[in-house]
Amino acid sequence: ISVKLNGSGLIRSHGLIGGKWTEAYDAKTFEVLNPATGEVITTVPFMAGRETNDAIASAQEAFPSWSKLTATERSKRLRKWYDLLISHKEELGQIITLEQGKPLKEGIGEVAYAANFIEFYAEEAKRVYGDIIPTTSPDRRFFVLKQPIGVVGLITPWNFPIAMITRKVAPALACGCTVVIKPSELTPLTALAAAELSIQAGIPPGVVNVVMGDAPAIGEALLASSQVKTISFTGSTAVGKKLMAGAAATVKKVSLELGGNAPCIVFDDADIEVAVKGTLAAKFRNTGQTCICANRVLVQEGIYDKFADAFSKAVKSLKMGNGFEEGVVLVETLVQDAVSKGAKILAGGNRHSLGFTFYEPTVIADVKNEMRISSEEVFGPVAPLLKFKTEEEAIHIANDTNAGLASYIFTTNVQRSWRVAEALEYGIVGVNEGLVSTEVTPHGGMKQSGLGREGSKYGMEEYLEHHPHILGKW
Ligand code: ADP
Repeated sequence: ISVKLNGSGLIRSHGLIGGKWTEAYDAKTFEVLNPATGEVITTVPFMAGRETNDAIASAQEAFPSWSKLTATERSKRLRKWYDLLISHKEELGQIITLEQGKPLKEGIGEVAYAANFIEFYAEEAKRVYGDIIPTTSPDRRFFVLKQPIGVVGLITPWNFPIAMITRKVAPALACGCTVVIKPSELTPLTALAAAELSIQAGIPPGVVNVVMGDAPAIGEALLASSQVKTISFTGSTAVGKKLMAGAAATVKKVSLELGGNAPCIVFDDADIEVAVKGTLAAKFRNTGQTCICANRVLVQEGIYDKFADAFSKAVKSLKMGNGFEEGVVLVETLVQDAVSKGAKILAGGNRHSLGFTFYEPTVIADVKNEMRISSEEVFGPVAPLLKFKTEEEAIHIANDTNAGLASYIFTTNVQRSWRVAEALEYGIVGVNEGLVSTEVTPHGGMKQSGLGREGSKYGMEEYLEHHPHILGKW
């Protein structure tokens, strides 16, 4: 993947605090690498607690005026930001490919998807309705206002360097909150470019701040500050749990989007073409590196051989994407574990001849629930197939995990689709559909996959306080 910067005007090599491009206090920096080649793209400041406190102070200072703007005014600026993201789609896509490694087409696609959140919440800003509650006594009246919660801290991962940010920033800003963003240290440039466009869109200095560097120190500063009212995090379950524990000290709200272990259930009565296409989309999106990627493909015995055959054929014809180095090692270990316990490789199964960070799209059959690959998040291009007999058994295997983010079912039986979807302990269910992320539907997990919802009107709730007014002596 060779993408050159083409003199991009959007590359920023500083943090953004109070509208100013800022270095670290000790002038320390770290390198941002192109994962496909190992080349250094640029260096950015290695920030920690002090810079984060400055960013929080800037966000706090910007909060009163931003939150007091009319909803229409905030909406207009968000809309302008959306327009700018779209008109810089190619350039932003290139930055994503450079620092994250996904194919350029997917990078540009991610920008469009990310921008959709800004557009959606630019509209939603105008719909933060309150309530009037019928009174319980003649001389009292009850009203509920919804008000912005305040400064929020946003911590995001590398797999979607812009979309994971906009789905948090957009509702936060729409509600009137101001933000401190800590993007992944692997992909800060996309975040900084998007932040630059927020300034161009007329979003005032201090409303959007970006810091990066020492992740634990930045996390701690966000947690310790009583000005930060909520932390919205997308990433690993381990870090999510740490943040949740840390939030207790200041009784802060947390929104968490953590790891998944998505089952994809193919029933005997599935339309095989739909099931192959949907499973392919659910499994190999971002080369298997999303938290909603199908992790286990459960196939009913009557359709198992036919599906395994059609699916591995489809996988063999996939063009190669790429992944990260640690990912490759984990994927290799999980495949070896499964094979040593009796699983069979139907497609792929090796590091790709492209070398470095690449792994072949892989299908392994005869996987059992006890194998590590069934319980661990694969986060790579490997689809394990498990055979099941009955609907009950499929539901049992699917739910036999602490995770509960996305799930997929393929069936042409309407009753079954409702029955199984209801029984699955998952925040999201795709029925005959492998792509389940949209800005208009709520996204989030059950069990240890998280707390709160992102996207849709429900995504606004994370950034709002319900503020009842109880009016006496009417
Ligand atoms: P992933 O496996 O997706 O990289 P991580 O949970 O490691 O998941 O990272 C997600 C985000 O959390 C990144 O921005 C990372 O820098 C940040 N992070 C990692 N450790 C901490 C921590 N102790 N406190 C705050 N943020 C952290």
